[in-house]
Amino acid sequence: MAHELVTPAEQATKNDVDYIFYELTRSICPECKRVIDAKVLLRHGKVFMRKRCPEHGEIESLIYSDAEAYVRLSRYNKPGTIPLDFSTPIANGCPHDCGLCPDHQQHACVGIIEVNSACNMTCPLCFANAGAGYNLTLDEVKGILDRFVETEGDPQVVQFSGGEPTIHPQIVEMVRAARDREIPYVMINTNGKRLATDARFVHQLAELKPDIYFQFDGFDRNTYEVIRGEPEILEEKVRALDRLAEIGCRVILVPAIERGVNEHEVGKIVEFGLSHPAVRGINFQPAFHAGRHGPHDPLQRMTIPDIVSLIAEQTDGQFVDTDFVPIPCCFPTCNSVTYAYIDENGPLPLPRILNVDDYLDYITNRPLPDLGDEVKSALEGLWSSAASPGSSQAAQDFAISCAACGLPGDLDLEAFADRMFMIMLQDFMDPWTFNQKNVMKCCKEILLPDGYQIPFCAYNSVGYREQAREQLTARERARIRARREGEDFNPEPITFDFSDKR
Ligand code: SF4
Ligand code: SF4
Ligand code: SF4
Repeated sequence: MAHELVTPAEQATKNDVDYIFYELTRSICPECKRVIDAKVLLRHGKVFMRKRCPEHGEIESLIYSDAEAYVRLSRYNKPGTIPLDFSTPIANGCPHDCGLCPDHQQHACVGIIEVNSACNMTCPLCFANAGAGYNLTLDEVKGILDRFVETEGDPQVVQFSGGEPTIHPQIVEMVRAARDREIPYVMINTNGKRLATDARFVHQLAELKPDIYFQFDGFDRNTYEVIRGEPEILEEKVRALDRLAEIGCRVILVPAIERGVNEHEVGKIVEFGLSHPAVRGINFQPAFHAGRHGPHDPLQRMTIPDIVSLIAEQTDGQFVDTDFVPIPCCFPTCNSVTYAYIDENGPLPLPRILNVDDYLDYITNRPLPDLGDEVKSALEGLWSSAASPGSSQAAQDFAISCAACGLPGDLDLEAFADRMFMIMLQDFMDPWTFNQKNVMKCCKEILLPDGYQIPFCAYNSVGYREQAREQLTARERARIRARREGEDFNPEPITFDFSDKR
Protein backbone atom coordinates (compact mmCIF):
# COMPACT_ATOMS: atom_id res chain seq x y z
CA MET A 1 0.00 0.00 0.00
CA ALA A 2 1.33 3.43 -0.96
CA HIS A 3 1.90 5.92 1.88
CA GLU A 4 1.08 9.61 1.38
CA LEU A 5 4.11 11.75 2.01
CA VAL A 6 3.67 14.27 4.91
CA THR A 7 6.38 16.86 5.17
CA PRO A 8 7.66 17.93 8.65
CA ALA A 9 6.25 21.44 8.01
CA GLU A 10 2.76 19.97 7.44
CA GLN A 11 2.98 17.87 10.59
CA ALA A 12 3.83 20.75 12.95
CA THR A 13 0.97 23.23 12.85
CA LYS A 14 1.34 26.20 15.18
CA ASN A 15 -1.77 27.06 17.20
CA ASP A 16 -2.88 30.45 18.50
CA VAL A 17 -3.91 30.52 22.13
CA ASP A 18 -7.41 31.80 22.86
CA TYR A 19 -6.24 34.58 25.18
CA ILE A 20 -4.07 37.68 25.27
CA PHE A 21 -1.24 37.52 27.81
CA TYR A 22 -1.77 40.93 29.43
CA GLU A 23 0.62 41.08 32.37
CA LEU A 24 2.64 39.14 34.91
CA THR A 25 2.16 39.63 38.62
CA ARG A 26 2.55 37.62 41.81
CA SER A 27 -0.15 35.85 43.77
CA ILE A 28 -0.43 32.98 46.24
CA CYS A 29 -1.50 29.37 46.04
CA PRO A 30 -4.98 29.15 47.63
CA GLU A 31 -4.03 25.77 49.08
CA CYS A 32 -0.61 26.29 50.70
CA LYS A 33 -0.42 30.14 50.48
CA ARG A 34 3.09 30.13 49.02
CA VAL A 35 3.88 33.13 46.79
CA ILE A 36 3.85 32.22 43.08
CA ASP A 37 3.95 34.02 39.73
CA ALA A 38 0.59 34.70 38.12
CA LYS A 39 -0.37 35.63 34.57
CA VAL A 40 -3.27 37.97 33.88
CA LEU A 41 -5.04 36.84 30.70
CA LEU A 42 -7.75 38.51 28.61
CA ARG A 43 -10.04 35.84 27.19
CA HIS A 44 -13.49 36.02 25.62
CA GLY A 45 -14.04 39.55 26.94
CA LYS A 46 -13.12 38.65 30.53
CA VAL A 47 -10.00 38.80 32.69
CA PHE A 48 -8.55 35.70 34.32
CA MET A 49 -5.62 34.99 36.62
CA ARG A 50 -3.68 31.79 35.91
CA LYS A 51 -0.98 30.54 38.27
CA ARG A 52 0.86 27.34 39.02
CA CYS A 53 1.88 26.05 42.43
CA PRO A 54 4.74 23.53 42.29
CA GLU A 55 2.84 21.40 44.78
CA HIS A 56 -0.84 22.01 43.97
CA GLY A 57 -0.79 22.55 40.21
CA GLU A 58 -2.52 25.09 38.00
CA ILE A 59 -5.24 27.37 39.34
CA GLU A 60 -7.33 29.76 37.28
CA SER A 61 -9.84 32.35 38.51
CA LEU A 62 -12.01 35.08 37.05
CA ILE A 63 -10.85 38.47 38.29
CA TYR A 64 -12.86 40.96 36.18
CA SER A 65 -15.69 40.18 33.82
CA ASP A 66 -15.07 43.06 31.39
CA ALA A 67 -11.66 42.92 29.67
CA GLU A 68 -12.15 46.18 27.76
CA ALA A 69 -12.92 48.07 30.99
CA TYR A 70 -10.02 46.39 32.83
CA VAL A 71 -7.58 47.78 30.27
CA ARG A 72 -9.29 51.16 29.79
CA LEU A 73 -9.66 51.94 33.49
CA SER A 74 -5.92 51.74 34.17
CA ARG A 75 -5.72 55.51 33.61
CA TYR A 76 -7.54 56.11 36.92
CA ASN A 77 -4.43 55.61 38.98
CA LYS A 78 -3.02 58.53 40.86
CA PRO A 79 0.40 58.91 42.46
CA GLY A 80 0.38 57.44 45.96
CA THR A 81 0.85 59.47 49.14
CA ILE A 82 3.54 58.10 51.40
CA PRO A 83 2.76 57.82 55.15
CA LEU A 84 4.80 59.76 57.70
CA ASP A 85 6.35 56.59 59.05
CA PHE A 86 6.61 52.90 58.20
CA SER A 87 6.27 50.17 60.79
CA THR A 88 8.29 47.26 59.36
CA PRO A 89 11.50 46.95 57.31
CA ILE A 90 11.81 45.46 53.84
CA ALA A 91 13.14 42.00 54.61
CA ASN A 92 11.45 39.03 52.96
CA GLY A 93 9.64 40.69 50.06
CA CYS A 94 6.01 41.55 49.44
CA PRO A 95 3.52 40.37 50.74
CA HIS A 96 5.52 39.07 53.71
CA ASP A 97 6.77 42.41 55.08
CA CYS A 98 3.46 44.00 56.14
CA GLY A 99 3.56 46.51 57.25
CA LEU A 100 3.43 49.04 56.19
CA CYS A 101 6.95 48.54 54.84
CA PRO A 102 8.79 51.18 52.79
CA ASP A 103 7.87 49.33 49.57
CA HIS A 104 4.19 50.18 50.08
CA GLN A 105 2.83 52.65 47.53
CA GLN A 106 -0.03 54.32 49.40
CA HIS A 107 -0.88 55.59 52.86
CA ALA A 108 -3.83 54.31 54.89
CA CYS A 109 -7.05 56.13 53.86
CA VAL A 110 -9.02 53.79 56.12
CA GLY A 111 -7.74 52.12 59.30
CA ILE A 112 -9.70 49.08 60.43
CA ILE A 113 -9.50 47.88 64.03
CA GLU A 114 -10.92 44.43 64.70
CA VAL A 115 -11.70 44.81 68.39
CA ASN A 116 -12.73 41.19 68.92
CA SER A 117 -12.97 37.88 67.12
CA ALA A 118 -16.35 36.75 68.49
CA CYS A 119 -19.74 37.47 66.97
CA ASN A 120 -23.42 37.07 67.84
CA MET A 121 -23.93 35.37 64.46
CA THR A 122 -22.26 32.41 62.76
CA CYS A 123 -22.53 33.32 59.07
CA PRO A 124 -21.50 30.61 56.60
CA LEU A 125 -19.78 33.44 54.63
CA CYS A 126 -17.42 35.30 56.99
CA PHE A 127 -13.99 36.54 55.92
CA ALA A 128 -13.11 37.07 59.61
CA ASN A 129 -14.01 33.46 60.43
CA ALA A 130 -15.61 34.90 63.56
CA GLY A 131 -15.59 32.86 66.72
CA ALA A 132 -14.29 32.83 70.29
CA GLY A 133 -10.76 34.17 70.66
CA TYR A 134 -9.80 37.63 71.84
CA ASN A 135 -11.06 41.08 72.85
CA LEU A 136 -8.62 43.96 72.47
CA THR A 137 -8.42 46.10 75.60
CA LEU A 138 -9.29 49.79 75.56
CA ASP A 139 -5.62 50.59 76.21
CA GLU A 140 -4.55 48.47 73.23
CA VAL A 141 -7.05 50.31 71.02
CA LYS A 142 -5.82 53.67 72.29
CA GLY A 143 -2.25 52.59 71.46
CA ILE A 144 -3.34 51.58 67.95
CA LEU A 145 -5.08 54.92 67.43
CA ASP A 146 -2.01 56.83 68.65
CA ARG A 147 0.21 54.96 66.19
CA PHE A 148 -2.33 55.69 63.42
CA VAL A 149 -2.05 59.40 64.25
CA GLU A 150 1.78 59.11 64.15
CA THR A 151 1.87 57.44 60.74
CA GLU A 152 -0.92 59.47 59.11
CA GLY A 153 -0.68 62.88 60.80
CA ASP A 154 -4.38 63.52 60.23
CA PRO A 155 -6.05 60.14 59.85
CA GLN A 156 -9.44 60.48 58.18
CA VAL A 157 -11.34 57.25 58.78
CA VAL A 158 -11.19 54.59 61.43
CA GLN A 159 -13.56 51.66 61.26
CA PHE A 160 -14.25 49.43 64.27
CA SER A 161 -14.87 45.89 63.12
CA GLY A 162 -14.58 42.34 64.44
CA GLY A 163 -16.04 39.72 64.91
CA GLU A 164 -18.97 41.88 65.86
CA PRO A 165 -17.67 45.09 67.42
CA THR A 166 -20.95 46.09 69.06
CA ILE A 167 -20.70 43.16 71.49
CA HIS A 168 -17.34 44.36 72.80
CA PRO A 169 -18.07 45.71 76.32
CA GLN A 170 -15.99 48.85 75.68
CA ILE A 171 -16.97 49.70 72.12
CA VAL A 172 -18.52 53.02 73.13
CA GLU A 173 -15.29 54.07 74.91
CA MET A 174 -13.32 53.00 71.83
CA VAL A 175 -15.44 55.19 69.56
CA ARG A 176 -14.95 58.02 72.03
CA ALA A 177 -11.16 57.45 72.02
CA ALA A 178 -11.16 57.85 68.22
CA ARG A 179 -13.27 61.01 68.49
CA ASP A 180 -10.85 62.35 71.16
CA ARG A 181 -8.07 62.03 68.59
CA GLU A 182 -10.11 64.17 66.20
CA ILE A 183 -10.48 61.47 63.57
CA PRO A 184 -13.36 62.91 61.51
CA TYR A 185 -15.05 59.67 60.41
CA VAL A 186 -15.46 56.94 62.95
CA MET A 187 -17.36 53.94 61.68
CA ILE A 188 -18.78 50.78 63.21
CA ASN A 189 -19.05 47.76 60.95
CA THR A 190 -22.02 45.76 62.22
CA ASN A 191 -24.61 43.08 61.52
CA GLY A 192 -27.15 45.31 63.34
CA LYS A 193 -28.36 42.75 65.90
CA ARG A 194 -27.43 44.68 69.01
CA LEU A 195 -28.82 47.88 67.50
CA ALA A 196 -32.15 46.12 66.96
CA THR A 197 -32.39 44.74 70.48
CA ASP A 198 -30.57 47.09 72.88
CA ALA A 199 -32.20 50.52 73.16
CA ARG A 200 -29.70 51.64 75.81
CA PHE A 201 -26.78 50.97 73.46
CA VAL A 202 -28.50 52.91 70.66
CA HIS A 203 -28.98 55.78 73.10
CA GLN A 204 -25.22 55.75 73.89
CA LEU A 205 -24.40 55.90 70.17
CA ALA A 206 -26.76 58.87 69.72
CA GLU A 207 -24.26 61.05 71.54
CA LEU A 208 -21.21 59.97 69.47
CA LYS A 209 -22.95 59.43 66.12
CA PRO A 210 -20.50 57.04 64.46
CA ASP A 211 -21.14 56.24 60.81
CA ILE A 212 -22.59 52.75 60.49
CA TYR A 213 -21.36 50.26 57.92
CA PHE A 214 -24.35 47.93 57.93
CA GLN A 215 -24.46 44.34 56.68
CA PHE A 216 -27.58 44.11 54.45
CA ASP A 217 -27.66 41.42 51.75
CA GLY A 218 -31.24 41.68 50.47
CA PHE A 219 -34.76 40.73 51.43
CA ASP A 220 -35.32 37.03 50.71
CA ARG A 221 -35.32 34.34 53.40
CA ASN A 222 -33.11 32.24 51.16
CA THR A 223 -30.49 34.99 50.87
CA TYR A 224 -30.13 35.27 54.62
CA GLU A 225 -30.27 31.53 55.12
CA VAL A 226 -27.45 30.86 52.63
CA ILE A 227 -25.18 33.81 53.41
CA ARG A 228 -25.94 34.46 57.09
CA GLY A 229 -27.48 31.25 58.39
CA GLU A 230 -30.48 33.26 59.74
CA PRO A 231 -33.42 33.27 57.31
CA GLU A 232 -35.59 35.51 59.49
CA ILE A 233 -33.13 38.29 60.22
CA LEU A 234 -34.54 40.93 57.85
CA GLU A 235 -37.05 42.29 60.36
CA GLU A 236 -34.28 42.87 62.91
CA LYS A 237 -32.16 44.64 60.32
CA VAL A 238 -34.97 47.01 59.34
CA ARG A 239 -35.69 47.74 63.02
CA ALA A 240 -32.01 48.60 63.56
CA LEU A 241 -32.02 50.91 60.54
CA ASP A 242 -35.15 52.68 61.76
CA ARG A 243 -33.49 53.27 65.14
CA LEU A 244 -30.39 54.63 63.44
CA ALA A 245 -32.59 57.04 61.48
CA GLU A 246 -34.18 58.20 64.76
CA ILE A 247 -30.79 59.07 66.29
CA GLY A 248 -29.41 60.63 63.09
CA CYS A 249 -26.59 58.17 62.37
CA ARG A 250 -25.49 57.93 58.73
CA VAL A 251 -25.62 54.41 57.30
CA ILE A 252 -23.89 52.69 54.39
CA LEU A 253 -25.57 49.42 53.46
CA VAL A 254 -23.06 46.65 52.77
CA PRO A 255 -24.49 43.81 50.67
CA ALA A 256 -22.34 40.80 49.80
CA ILE A 257 -23.54 39.57 46.41
CA GLU A 258 -23.08 35.86 45.76
CA ARG A 259 -23.74 34.29 42.36
CA GLY A 260 -26.91 32.24 42.32
CA VAL A 261 -28.06 33.57 45.70
CA ASN A 262 -28.99 37.25 45.75
CA GLU A 263 -28.06 38.66 42.34
CA HIS A 264 -31.74 39.34 41.71
CA GLU A 265 -31.99 41.64 44.76
CA VAL A 266 -29.50 44.31 43.69
CA GLY A 267 -32.12 46.71 42.27
CA LYS A 268 -34.38 46.30 45.28
CA ILE A 269 -31.47 47.08 47.60
CA VAL A 270 -30.80 50.31 45.65
CA GLU A 271 -34.50 51.24 45.83
CA PHE A 272 -34.60 50.56 49.57
CA GLY A 273 -31.39 52.53 50.17
CA LEU A 274 -32.71 55.53 48.27
CA SER A 275 -35.92 55.52 50.30
CA HIS A 276 -34.64 54.87 53.84
CA PRO A 277 -33.90 58.08 55.79
CA ALA A 278 -30.78 56.69 57.54
CA VAL A 279 -29.11 55.36 54.38
CA ARG A 280 -26.59 57.59 52.58
CA GLY A 281 -25.07 55.00 50.34
CA ILE A 282 -24.47 51.37 49.45
CA ASN A 283 -21.19 49.48 49.25
CA PHE A 284 -21.81 46.40 47.11
CA GLN A 285 -19.21 43.69 47.55
CA PRO A 286 -18.90 40.65 45.30
CA ALA A 287 -18.74 37.73 47.75
CA PHE A 288 -15.10 36.82 48.30
CA HIS A 289 -13.84 33.56 49.65
CA ALA A 290 -11.41 34.20 52.47
CA GLY A 291 -11.91 32.92 56.02
CA ARG A 292 -15.16 30.94 56.33
CA HIS A 293 -17.01 30.11 53.13
CA GLY A 294 -18.59 27.21 51.30
CA PRO A 295 -17.36 25.54 48.12
CA HIS A 296 -17.28 27.89 45.14
CA ASP A 297 -16.17 27.95 41.51
CA PRO A 298 -13.45 30.59 41.11
CA LEU A 299 -14.29 30.83 37.40
CA GLN A 300 -17.88 31.82 38.17
CA ARG A 301 -17.42 34.40 40.90
CA MET A 302 -19.10 37.81 40.89
CA THR A 303 -16.94 40.79 39.96
CA ILE A 304 -17.54 44.54 39.84
CA PRO A 305 -18.76 44.66 36.19
CA ASP A 306 -21.30 41.90 36.94
CA ILE A 307 -22.83 43.94 39.74
CA VAL A 308 -22.80 47.12 37.65
CA SER A 309 -24.77 45.28 34.92
CA LEU A 310 -27.24 44.00 37.52
CA ILE A 311 -27.72 47.51 38.89
CA ALA A 312 -28.39 48.87 35.38
CA GLU A 313 -30.87 46.07 34.58
CA GLN A 314 -32.69 46.15 37.88
CA THR A 315 -32.96 49.93 38.38
CA ASP A 316 -34.35 50.58 34.89
CA GLY A 317 -31.22 52.51 34.01
CA GLN A 318 -31.34 54.86 37.03
CA PHE A 319 -27.66 53.90 37.29
CA VAL A 320 -25.64 52.53 34.33
CA ASP A 321 -22.04 51.42 33.82
CA THR A 322 -20.75 54.82 32.66
CA ASP A 323 -21.94 56.33 35.96
CA PHE A 324 -19.23 54.43 37.85
CA VAL A 325 -15.64 55.68 37.94
CA PRO A 326 -12.78 53.89 39.75
CA ILE A 327 -11.31 55.29 42.93
CA PRO A 328 -7.78 56.28 41.88
CA CYS A 329 -6.11 56.06 45.35
CA CYS A 330 -5.73 52.30 45.00
CA PHE A 331 -5.66 50.19 41.84
CA PRO A 332 -8.62 51.06 39.62
CA THR A 333 -9.96 47.52 39.61
CA CYS A 334 -10.29 47.47 43.42
CA ASN A 335 -13.32 49.73 43.56
CA SER A 336 -15.58 52.06 41.61
CA VAL A 337 -18.05 54.63 42.85
CA THR A 338 -20.75 57.04 41.76
CA TYR A 339 -22.56 59.87 43.50
CA ALA A 340 -26.08 60.93 42.59
CA TYR A 341 -27.96 64.16 43.22
CA ILE A 342 -31.42 63.26 44.51
CA ASP A 343 -34.46 65.45 43.87
CA GLU A 344 -38.15 64.93 43.13
CA ASN A 345 -37.21 63.43 39.74
CA GLY A 346 -35.06 60.72 41.35
CA PRO A 347 -31.29 60.18 41.33
CA LEU A 348 -29.08 62.03 38.83
CA PRO A 349 -25.57 60.48 38.78
CA LEU A 350 -22.88 63.16 38.77
CA PRO A 351 -20.83 61.64 35.90
CA ARG A 352 -23.78 62.24 33.54
CA ILE A 353 -23.51 65.99 33.92
CA LEU A 354 -19.87 66.52 34.82
CA ASN A 355 -17.03 64.90 32.94
CA VAL A 356 -15.54 63.22 36.01
CA ASP A 357 -13.18 61.26 33.70
CA ASP A 358 -11.34 64.41 32.64
CA TYR A 359 -10.58 65.28 36.25
CA LEU A 360 -9.60 61.85 37.52
CA ASP A 361 -7.67 60.54 34.51
CA TYR A 362 -4.07 60.81 35.74
CA ILE A 363 -2.46 59.35 32.64
CA THR A 364 -3.87 61.58 29.91
CA ASN A 365 -3.72 64.70 32.12
CA ARG A 366 -6.09 66.77 29.98
CA PRO A 367 -6.08 70.57 30.50
CA LEU A 368 -8.85 71.59 32.91
CA PRO A 369 -11.31 74.48 32.48
CA ASP A 370 -11.40 77.59 34.73
CA LEU A 371 -11.93 76.56 38.37
CA GLY A 372 -10.74 73.12 37.26
CA ASP A 373 -8.35 72.72 40.18
CA GLU A 374 -11.09 73.40 42.70
CA VAL A 375 -13.44 70.92 41.01
CA LYS A 376 -10.64 68.35 40.69
CA SER A 377 -9.88 68.60 44.38
CA ALA A 378 -13.62 68.26 45.23
CA LEU A 379 -13.89 65.16 43.03
CA GLU A 380 -10.73 63.70 44.56
CA GLY A 381 -12.42 64.14 47.94
CA LEU A 382 -15.47 62.21 46.75
CA TRP A 383 -13.58 59.59 44.73
CA SER A 384 -11.62 58.48 47.77
CA SER A 385 -11.97 55.56 50.15
CA ALA A 386 -12.01 58.16 52.93
CA ALA A 387 -15.20 59.87 51.68
CA SER A 388 -18.19 59.64 53.99
CA PRO A 389 -21.43 60.46 52.14
CA GLY A 390 -23.62 62.88 54.06
CA SER A 391 -20.68 64.29 56.07
CA SER A 392 -20.01 68.02 55.93
CA GLN A 393 -16.78 67.54 53.96
CA ALA A 394 -18.44 65.26 51.40
CA ALA A 395 -21.40 67.66 51.15
CA GLN A 396 -19.02 70.51 50.45
CA ASP A 397 -17.16 68.53 47.76
CA PHE A 398 -20.51 67.49 46.32
CA ALA A 399 -21.77 71.09 46.30
CA ILE A 400 -18.65 72.28 44.40
CA SER A 401 -19.07 69.47 41.87
CA CYS A 402 -22.80 70.18 41.46
CA ALA A 403 -22.17 73.90 41.00
CA ALA A 404 -19.64 73.09 38.26
CA CYS A 405 -22.31 71.26 36.33
CA GLY A 406 -25.13 73.76 36.78
CA LEU A 407 -27.14 72.11 39.55
CA PRO A 408 -28.54 74.48 42.21
CA GLY A 409 -25.63 76.13 43.96
CA ASP A 410 -27.75 78.03 46.47
CA LEU A 411 -28.60 75.15 48.83
CA ASP A 412 -26.97 75.03 52.23
CA LEU A 413 -24.56 72.19 53.00
CA GLU A 414 -27.10 70.27 55.02
CA ALA A 415 -29.44 70.23 52.03
CA PHE A 416 -26.59 68.98 49.81
CA ALA A 417 -25.78 66.31 52.37
CA ASP A 418 -29.42 65.19 52.25
CA ARG A 419 -29.43 65.11 48.46
CA MET A 420 -26.29 63.06 47.92
CA PHE A 421 -26.32 59.30 47.54
CA MET A 422 -23.32 57.04 46.95
CA ILE A 423 -23.10 53.63 45.33
CA MET A 424 -19.70 51.96 45.65
CA LEU A 425 -18.50 48.60 44.37
CA GLN A 426 -15.65 47.02 46.27
CA ASP A 427 -14.02 43.79 45.12
CA PHE A 428 -11.90 42.46 47.97
CA MET A 429 -9.39 39.81 46.95
CA ASP A 430 -9.16 36.28 48.29
CA PRO A 431 -6.48 33.59 47.92
CA TRP A 432 -7.82 32.75 44.43
CA THR A 433 -7.75 36.34 43.13
CA PHE A 434 -4.91 37.80 45.21
CA ASN A 435 -2.80 40.20 43.15
CA GLN A 436 0.34 41.56 44.75
CA LYS A 437 0.21 44.62 42.49
CA ASN A 438 -3.11 45.70 44.01
CA VAL A 439 -2.13 45.00 47.57
CA MET A 440 1.06 47.09 47.28
CA LYS A 441 -1.13 50.15 46.67
CA CYS A 442 -3.88 49.23 49.10
CA CYS A 443 -5.33 52.12 51.12
CA LYS A 444 -7.32 50.08 53.66
CA GLU A 445 -5.25 48.70 56.46
CA ILE A 446 -5.97 46.44 59.41
CA LEU A 447 -4.44 48.17 62.45
CA LEU A 448 -3.00 45.83 65.07
CA PRO A 449 -1.36 46.29 68.48
CA ASP A 450 2.44 46.71 68.31
CA GLY A 451 2.15 49.08 65.34
CA TYR A 452 1.36 46.73 62.47
CA GLN A 453 -0.77 48.15 59.63
CA ILE A 454 -1.56 45.36 57.21
CA PRO A 455 -3.39 45.81 53.87
CA PHE A 456 -6.85 44.28 54.25
CA CYS A 457 -6.56 41.78 51.39
CA ALA A 458 -3.11 40.64 52.54
CA TYR A 459 -4.42 40.23 56.08
CA ASN A 460 -7.25 37.98 54.88
CA SER A 461 -5.40 35.97 52.25
CA VAL A 462 -1.74 35.49 53.08
CA GLY A 463 -1.98 34.10 56.63
CA TYR A 464 -1.60 37.26 58.76
CA ARG A 465 -5.13 36.91 60.17
CA GLU A 466 -4.57 33.38 61.44
CA GLN A 467 -1.20 34.20 63.02
CA ALA A 468 -2.42 37.46 64.62
CA ARG A 469 -5.53 35.78 66.02
CA GLU A 470 -3.56 32.96 67.58
CA GLN A 471 -1.18 35.39 69.28
CA LEU A 472 -3.91 37.82 70.39
CA THR A 473 -5.91 34.93 71.84
CA ALA A 474 -2.85 33.63 73.71
CA ARG A 475 -2.16 37.19 74.91
CA GLU A 476 -5.68 37.54 76.28
CA ARG A 477 -5.47 34.24 78.13
CA ALA A 478 -2.11 35.22 79.65
CA ARG A 479 -3.53 38.61 80.67
CA ILE A 480 -6.49 36.98 82.43
CA ARG A 481 -4.16 34.52 84.16
CA ALA A 482 -1.84 37.31 85.33
CA ARG A 483 -4.77 39.38 86.63
CA ARG A 484 -6.11 36.37 88.53
CA GLU A 485 -2.73 35.75 90.11
CA GLY A 486 -2.02 39.43 90.80
CA GLU A 487 1.07 39.51 88.55
CA ASP A 488 2.36 42.19 86.17
CA PHE A 489 1.55 41.56 82.54
CA ASN A 490 4.05 42.42 79.79
CA PRO A 491 2.88 40.88 76.53
CA GLU A 492 5.25 39.51 73.92
CA PRO A 493 5.08 41.62 70.74
CA ILE A 494 3.22 40.08 67.78
CA THR A 495 5.49 38.46 65.19
CA PHE A 496 4.77 36.92 61.80
CA ASP A 497 6.57 33.99 60.24
CA PHE A 498 6.12 33.05 56.57
CA SER A 499 9.46 31.30 56.18
CA ASP A 500 7.77 28.20 54.74
CA LYS A 501 5.89 30.28 52.10
CA ARG A 502 8.77 31.97 50.38
S1 SF4 B 1 1.68 44.81 50.84
FE1 SF4 B 1 2.72 46.74 51.19
S2 SF4 B 1 3.33 46.67 53.33
FE2 SF4 B 1 2.86 44.59 52.72
S3 SF4 B 1 4.83 43.74 52.12
FE3 SF4 B 1 3.81 44.52 50.27
S4 SF4 B 1 4.60 46.57 50.03
FE4 SF4 B 1 5.06 45.96 52.12
S1 SF4 C 1 -19.87 37.92 58.65
FE1 SF4 C 1 -19.98 39.45 60.26
S2 SF4 C 1 -21.93 39.02 61.24
FE2 SF4 C 1 -21.42 37.21 60.11
S3 SF4 C 1 -20.30 35.88 61.57
FE3 SF4 C 1 -18.78 37.07 60.43
S4 SF4 C 1 -18.41 38.83 61.73
FE4 SF4 C 1 -20.35 37.95 62.41
S1 SF4 D 1 -8.57 46.24 50.48
FE1 SF4 D 1 -8.05 44.93 48.74
S2 SF4 D 1 -9.50 45.57 47.16
FE2 SF4 D 1 -9.46 47.21 48.71
S3 SF4 D 1 -7.91 48.67 48.04
FE3 SF4 D 1 -6.90 47.19 49.36
S4 SF4 D 1 -6.08 45.65 47.95
FE4 SF4 D 1 -7.62 46.78 46.84
